Amino acid sequence: MDNLSINGDSFIKIPTIKFKKLFINGGFVDSVSGKTFETVDPRTEEVITKIAEATKDDVDIAVKAAREAFDNGPWPRMPGAERAKIMVKWATLIEQNQEEIAALDTIDGGKLYSWCKTVDVPEAANILRYYAGAADKVHGEVFKTSRNLHMYTLMEPIGVVGHIIPWNFPTIMFFAKAAPCLAAGCTMVLKPAEQTPLSSLFFAHLAKEAGIPDGVLNVLPGFGSTAGAAITSHMDIDAVSFTGSTETGRRVMQAAALSNLKPVSLELGGKSPVLIFDDADVDKAVDLALFGILHNKGEICVAYSRVFVQEGIYDEFEKKVLEKAKNWVVGDPFDPKVQQGPQTSKAQFDKILSYIKHGKNEGATLLTGGKQVGNKGYYIEPTIFTNVKDDMLIAQDEIFGPVMALSKFKTIEEGIKKANNTKYGLAAGIVTKNLDIANTVSRSIRAGIIWINCYFAFDIDCPFGGYKMSGYGRDYGLEALHKYLQVKSVATPI
Ligand code: NAD
Repeated sequence: MDNLSINGDSFIKIPTIKFKKLFINGGFVDSVSGKTFETVDPRTEEVITKIAEATKDDVDIAVKAAREAFDNGPWPRMPGAERAKIMVKWATLIEQNQEEIAALDTIDGGKLYSWCKTVDVPEAANILRYYAGAADKVHGEVFKTSRNLHMYTLMEPIGVVGHIIPWNFPTIMFFAKAAPCLAAGCTMVLKPAEQTPLSSLFFAHLAKEAGIPDGVLNVLPGFGSTAGAAITSHMDIDAVSFTGSTETGRRVMQAAALSNLKPVSLELGGKSPVLIFDDADVDKAVDLALFGILHNKGEICVAYSRVFVQEGIYDEFEKKVLEKAKNWVVGDPFDPKVQQGPQTSKAQFDKILSYIKHGKNEGATLLTGGKQVGNKGYYIEPTIFTNVKDDMLIAQDEIFGPVMALSKFKTIEEGIKKANNTKYGLAAGIVTKNLDIANTVSRSIRAGIIWINCYFAFDIDCPFGGYKMSGYGRDYGLEALHKYLQVKSVATPI
C-alpha cells in the first residue's frame, strides 16, 4: 500500500489489489479462456491491474453453481432470520473496510474519495441491513373464498437471478441488486461494469467471510457483449435485474424474450429537468443546479442535465451560475478540496467532448467550460450551454457528464411542457417556495422521482425507478424485494 501524496499533503493509502479473478462457487478462479482485461485509473490513464475476463463458458459454470445452490443448498431453505444474520455480518465487514472500498472506487472510477467513504459505503451497509430486516417478513395471504376452498399464497424466491450493473455507482448498485435478491432467498450471478470491477470482487471476498454459502453469490467481471449477453440469454437464469443505458436495456429485453422469457427489470438512462421558479432563492437554486449536474462529474442517471429557469430571475441566475461554475474545483478525487474528479473512462471522456462540440455546432452558446482540464487524466471543465432549444441533441440525449443545458420559461404550463419533452422519465426537480406550484408540477411531470427543493434525496425505504424509456421495475424499498419473489397459490377443499 502506497501513501498517496498530493501537493505535499499526505492522503489515504492506495490499496494493493488482492482480488483479480472471477468469484464462482465460493472461490476465486481464472476464466476458462485464460483471458484478462485491463482496468484503468482515470486520474492517470495508467493501467491499475489485469482482471480475469468472464465469457459465456464462465457464465455457464457460475449459473450451474447458482442453480445447485438454489435447488439443493441451504440458502433458500434457511429461515429468513438466519439469512439476515449473515447479511448483517456482511454489512459490518463492509463498514470495517470502508476506506479500502472507497479507495477502490476512486482509483477505478474517479469518484470523490470522501463521498464514497462517507456516503456510498455506509449506504451499502444500510441497504444490507434494511433487506436483512425484511428477510423474515415475507408472507403470503390466506383467502376466504365463496367456493368451499381454503386458499392461500406462498411467496417463493424466483430462483437464479442475473444482475448487470454500470460503473457510476459500483458499490451502491452492487448492494441495491444483491441485498433484496439474497434476502428473498435467491441465488445470483452479477456482472460488474468492465470499467469498475474492483470493489465487486472485494465484496465477494467479504461475502465469503460473512458466511454466504458457496454458489449463492457469483461475481463475473467481463464485457457486455460477451458475459452480459450470456447472462441475459441464459436459459437457466430465472430473472434479470439490469441497470445501464436505455440502448442496452432494449437488448436485455430482447435477449430475455428470445431465450426463456425471463422477467427483466430495467433501470435505464435519464435527461432530468429541474424547473426553477421566480420565487426561488437564486443563490440556493444555483447551488442546487450545479450540484445537480456536477455531482459525480455528471455521471448520474438522475442528473439535472436540463435546467429551466423562469424568466423573472433568469439573468441573475445565469450570472451567478457562471461565476460559481468557474470556481468549481476539478482535480484529484482523493483531495478533500476537490469537487469534481475525472470522467470514468476514455470512452466517456471522448463522448462528452463530442457532445460539447455538437452543442456548439447546433447553435447553443457555450457559456463556460467545454475543454479538458490539464493534459493527463479524463478531467473535463464544468460546462454550461445557454440558448438551448428543446429539440437540440444536447437537450435530448443523455450526455452523462458535467454539461448543463440552460434555458428559460415563462409560465408554469410552458415549464411543465418543456420538462416532459423527453423520451426519458427518471427524475425531475422543482425549486419554489410555493406549495401549489410544487404540488401541481409534481403531478404533471412524468418521472419516477420528483425532488422539491433538493437533489439526489433517496432513502432505502422508498422505491426508485423510471417512467417512459427510463425503464420499469423498481430498486429500493419493499418493491425491490418483490422483484425477486413469485406468488404461488395453493387450494384445498374444505
Ligand atoms: P451500458 O448500458 O453501456 O452498460 C451497463 C452494463 O451493461 C455494463 O455492465 C455493461 O457491460 C453491460 N452491457 C453492455 N452491453 C450489454 C449487452 N448487450 N448485454 C448485457 N449487458 C450488457 O451503460 P453504462 O454506460 O455502463 O452506464 C451508464 C448508463 O447507465 C446511463 O445511461 C445511465 O443513465 C444508466 N444508469 C441508470 C441508473 C438507474 O438507476 N436508472 C443508474 C445508473 C446508471
